[in-house]
Amino acid sequence: MVQLPEPFASIPIYQIRYPRPSPIHEFGTNLKAATRVPNHPELRVWMKRDDQAAPMVCCGNKYRKLEYIIPDILSTPGVTTIVTEGGLQSNHAVQVAAVSAKLGLECVLLLDEQAGGLDASENPEIFRSTGNIQICQLLGADIRVFSGSYDKDSVLAELRSTGKVPYWIPMGASMHPLGGLGYARCAFEIATQEEELRLEGTGRFDYIFLPCGSGSTLAGLIAGFRLLEKSSTGGKRLPPRQIVGLTVSPKEEQEKTVLEIARTTGGHIGLDPQSDLNLSDVRLDHRSHGTGYGILDTDTERSLREIAIQNGVLMDPVYSGKAAGGMISFLRSGELEADARKWGHAGAGSLNILVLHTGGQTVYSAYATTPTTA
Ligand SMILES: *Cc1c(COP(=O)(O)O)cnc(C)c1O
Repeated sequence: MVQLPEPFASIPIYQIRYPRPSPIHEFGTNLKAATRVPNHPELRVWMKRDDQAAPMVCCGNKYRKLEYIIPDILSTPGVTTIVTEGGLQSNHAVQVAAVSAKLGLECVLLLDEQAGGLDASENPEIFRSTGNIQICQLLGADIRVFSGSYDKDSVLAELRSTGKVPYWIPMGASMHPLGGLGYARCAFEIATQEEELRLEGTGRFDYIFLPCGSGSTLAGLIAGFRLLEKSSTGGKRLPPRQIVGLTVSPKEEQEKTVLEIARTTGGHIGLDPQSDLNLSDVRLDHRSHGTGYGILDTDTERSLREIAIQNGVLMDPVYSGKAAGGMISFLRSGELEADARKWGHAGAGSLNILVLHTGGQTVYSAYATTPTTA
C-alpha cells in the first residue's frame, strides 16, 4: 500500500481501483534500438497502465480523481444526481456515468458536440452514436447534447425544481477542489514502484510524459512529487525529475491553469501553495496536439499504428496516443538527451522514462473509417 504523510493520509478516499498499483511494463524495444548510440545514455522506456487500474468500464485517469470526490458526493445531504460536462466523446463522462450507476445515483451528462472532432469526422453519424456515447447510454445516463454553449445553472435549477439534489463536477474534474488529489497520490504510488523495479541510473523515472487536457492529472503529479521531495530525508542530490505534459489542444495559458490546480491540491496535502509550487514547475509541450482536440491527424494516426504494431498496445486517439507520439519524437530527435544534460545528467548511464497510459480506448469506434473494397 501507498504510505502518505499527514494531512494527506487522512483525506477521505473511496476505493474504485484495484488495491495494487496500476502495472508498469517496459515499452518499445524497437525504439530503444533506434536511439542507442555509443557513449550516449541508454534510454529505457516504461509505461504505467492507468487504463488497467480499475475493474470498471473505460478505465482511465478519471477514476483516480473520482476516488477523492466520491466521499464529498456521498456526504452531500439528499444527493440524487451527478451532473458533469465534456466533449461529445468524453472519457470523463463515461467514468462519471459508471460511478453514478454503481453508487445508485442518477447521472446527467452535458456534452458539447462542437468539442471533440465531430466536424472533422469522416462519418458524423457514427461519431454521434458509437464509442463512449454508446456506453453512456448503456449505463443509463441522461445525455444532453448541446452545441458550443449551455447554461449550467439552468440545468441545475431544472433538476432542483423537480425535487432532485444535483452534485456538479466540472470538466475532467479538474476545477473541482479535490480534483488533483488522485494524481498527487499517484506520485507516491510511482515512487514505491521505482523501488520495486530497481531502476538503474538515478533509480527513479527521470522523465514522466503524460497527456494534458483539463490539467489535474499533471497538476496532481506535480504537487505529489513536490510533497514527496519535501518529505524525503537527505539522500544524494539528483537532477530534478522532469514531468512533461503534452497538451491535446491549443488553449491559452494552460500553464497557469495547471499551476492553479497544483496549488489547490498542494494546500490540501500539506504544501505551502505559494512558496512550494511555481510556474517553473509546470512543463508543457505544445507540439503534439495537431489540428485540435479530438481530431485524429496523420501524425497521431502514425503513432497509434506504430505503437500498436510494435508493442501490441492500444493508445487512444485523443490523449494518450498524442502524448506517446510526442514522447517518441522527443526521444528520436535526440532532444531528450540534450535536455537531460541541461538538467545535470551525465552523458552515459541510463535514463529512465515513463509514459502514462491514461485510458480512453473506448472512443475508438467513433473514429471508424470504411475500408476500401477491392
Ligand atoms: C481526461 C483525459 C486526459 C487528460 O487528463 P486531464 O487531467 O484532463 O489533463 C488524458 N487521457 C485520457 C484518456 C483522458 O480521458
